Amino acid sequence: MYRTHTCGELRGKDVKTDVVLSGWVQKVRDKGFVVWVDLRDRYGITQLVFDEERTPAKLLAEARKLGREFVIQVKGEVIERTSKNPQLGTGDIEILVKELSVLNPALLPPFTIEDETDGGTDLRMKYRYLDIRRNPVKDKLIFRSKVTMEVRKYLSEHGFIEVETPYLIKSTPEGARDFVVPSRMNQGEFYALPQSPQTFKQLLMVGGLDKYFQIVKCFRDEDLRADRQPEFTQIDCEMAFVEQEDILNAFEGLTRHLLKEIRGVEVDTFPRMTYDEAMKTYGNDKPDIRFDMRFAELNTLAQHREFNVFNSAELVVGIAVPGGASFTRKEIDGIIDWLKRPQVGAKGMVYVKCNEDGSFKSSVDKFYEQSDLQKWAEATGAKAGDLICVLSGDIDTTRTQLSALRMEMAERLGLRNPSEFAPLWVIDFPLLEKDEETGDYHAMHHPFTSPKPGQLELLDTDPDAVRANAYDLVLNGNEIGGGSIRIHDKKVQSIMFRHLGFSEEEAKAQFGFLMEAFQYGAPPHGGIAFGLDRLVAILGGQETIRDFIAFPKNNSGRDVMIDAPAPIDNAQLIELNLRLREE
Ligand code: ASP
Repeated sequence: MYRTHTCGELRGKDVKTDVVLSGWVQKVRDKGFVVWVDLRDRYGITQLVFDEERTPAKLLAEARKLGREFVIQVKGEVIERTSKNPQLGTGDIEILVKELSVLNPALLPPFTIEDETDGGTDLRMKYRYLDIRRNPVKDKLIFRSKVTMEVRKYLSEHGFIEVETPYLIKSTPEGARDFVVPSRMNQGEFYALPQSPQTFKQLLMVGGLDKYFQIVKCFRDEDLRADRQPEFTQIDCEMAFVEQEDILNAFEGLTRHLLKEIRGVEVDTFPRMTYDEAMKTYGNDKPDIRFDMRFAELNTLAQHREFNVFNSAELVVGIAVPGGASFTRKEIDGIIDWLKRPQVGAKGMVYVKCNEDGSFKSSVDKFYEQSDLQKWAEATGAKAGDLICVLSGDIDTTRTQLSALRMEMAERLGLRNPSEFAPLWVIDFPLLEKDEETGDYHAMHHPFTSPKPGQLELLDTDPDAVRANAYDLVLNGNEIGGGSIRIHDKKVQSIMFRHLGFSEEEAKAQFGFLMEAFQYGAPPHGGIAFGLDRLVAILGGQETIRDFIAFPKNNSGRDVMIDAPAPIDNAQLIELNLRLREE
């Protein structure tokens, strides 16, 4: 028996018990007459003691030879500590060791395995298994497990069945590039890894399973923006005989359950906002509503003076930054420089300081009267002490820039409190999205998303106006879930494919199986998928998903621990009938 207890378990009441413990040597403190060893496992740290008085000389010498991260087993007696450590669960006791065996010696680890480590990110990624021994990483993995358990519990209690769908499939249209896998048995042909189980879950509804979920890996070959992973996990769900309202209620229930069980937070009914409203008031389809700073469009108030920058702009829009009137000139210049960086790309910013005495001081005093600025303050909701920041230009770009500024200001003012949770549904998304370069239309969600009732005909006349039965669940400025009510009618699906530029043959080749299934009694259905990695990170009060993934990839999509991707040998290439292009 390797152990009778874990290293986090023993307390004062266990004094005088004989125990066996196994774990890793965290630290050896050799004071000459006494040697203390911190023994660590997943559950905690227990102090071992060897001393000249009570420990045989041979055993004491062995203890002195222990190095960091040696795996050892000890047998001994629990004794009361003379100087107790209230920071440690086991801090009242220590183990007077009577037998020691080294189960496996260890090389000196490349970084210290403690809460505060000296290892940089790259090194810790290369030795991820060592990093996982550290509390900050280990705790996040345990936290993730707790979240997934709660998801499974809630959904199965609500009648959902967990079904696995295949990984070796063919292209699913979530809008990213596929990862492909060559087939040896069918030479010259390739599987694609699922970007999501979208078509399969719809087929499960045709199969009559009614309520499905799966905690599932999805694969998207995208350029990795910060904090994206090429393989990530979804809580993927689908239901039959549902309308949008049923889905929103079901998954609001799940989210509410998670907030309560995991964070002890009870939230009111989630607000709902249309996509158009979100874009207009926050410049963003995933607004962080933990704080205000709503957009106020100022065109009518600002476009009647000699200020040509505004007069020629499609949109003049501002926000009131709380307390911002106290920013120094240097701080405001800093904000303007921040806005001008290529990542944001604004040309400049007009600002108005709302002084405590009710007067205004602006960067455009030459063009505007105090009474004009007063109206801007009313429109943006600015109070004395606030700073009104105004951007102008074409609608989409200006909104995006002001949205970035809004988030940055919130960050600087500490308004993005990670232990506050503000979920909301964004609904009524456009069905289609125009590629400005090619003029082609893409499905904003995916091609199986249904248009709002009665809007199918609009596709021919005004495709931009068509709204979809599509919704996103947003939490603290992050899209944590998205889904739609699907098309379940073959004719409608064909019309959609046509509008998305698929020829009949292409649609048949790629999605013939689904269209065929729709002819055998497809029930009305819809669903949603949550990004589990991000959901877990936000519930954990963090913004980066990487720490919540046991073995994440780096920003170039590499696993630096196993060194993947890697070339394959020639024999494998030949077997697959593949040849690498000569440079
Ligand atoms: N398959 C979709 C996605 O991955 C989610 C859904 O529509 O249910 O975004």
